[in-house]
Amino acid sequence: MKFTSTQDFTSLTELLKFYGDADEIVFKSHSSLNEADIAEACHNGRWTANRLRLRNGSKGVEDIVIGYGCRVVHEAWQVADGKIVFLGECLLHHKDGGAVIRVNSDATKSLAELMAQWADETERRWFSEEKIVEVVIAHELFHLLDHHSESRTASTLVELAAHAFARAMTELPFSPLLFNALLVRLATGKRTLIL
Ligand SMILES: [Zn+2]
Repeated sequence: MKFTSTQDFTSLTELLKFYGDADEIVFKSHSSLNEADIAEACHNGRWTANRLRLRNGSKGVEDIVIGYGCRVVHEAWQVADGKIVFLGECLLHHKDGGAVIRVNSDATKSLAELMAQWADETERRWFSEEKIVEVVIAHELFHLLDHHSESRTASTLVELAAHAFARAMTELPFSPLLFNALLVRLATGKRTLIL
């Protein structure tokens, strides 16, 4: 992935403060959904994470996924002339059989490289490629667990639940929506704070 535009970010402290709020508050600013629906999505995501943690202890997210018989594939792919970037996706019935989680290694690497320069020492561990990948896999794991209710065209509520789940599973001190916001900024050089 090549980023050509000059970056002009709001300070990272400001972004961390914004995305570090409770999921309910962050999501309210990202969607026009009502509070009760957002609260239910957050509850669903966190409840699923707690259940999984009770069952798996401190096992890493990728190991949990593999334990479910799902493969994790790391590969680079470009979508829509590099403007729309996805960190990952999951395929429930892959042609080779079984579920597959694809991690966009181009996107996770680019994001980690940027953040290695931008984040200070204490913040950096939340933006290592390893951490970003863990969060991406957790997000997709939620979709796999939740497949009975949604197809690949997941509704906004399912997306929010998946983000809440990933945050709880990885103990991220901010909403994973921050990663998406940073990616969009990287790809477009836009200055907007809210997607
Ligand atoms: Zn998703």
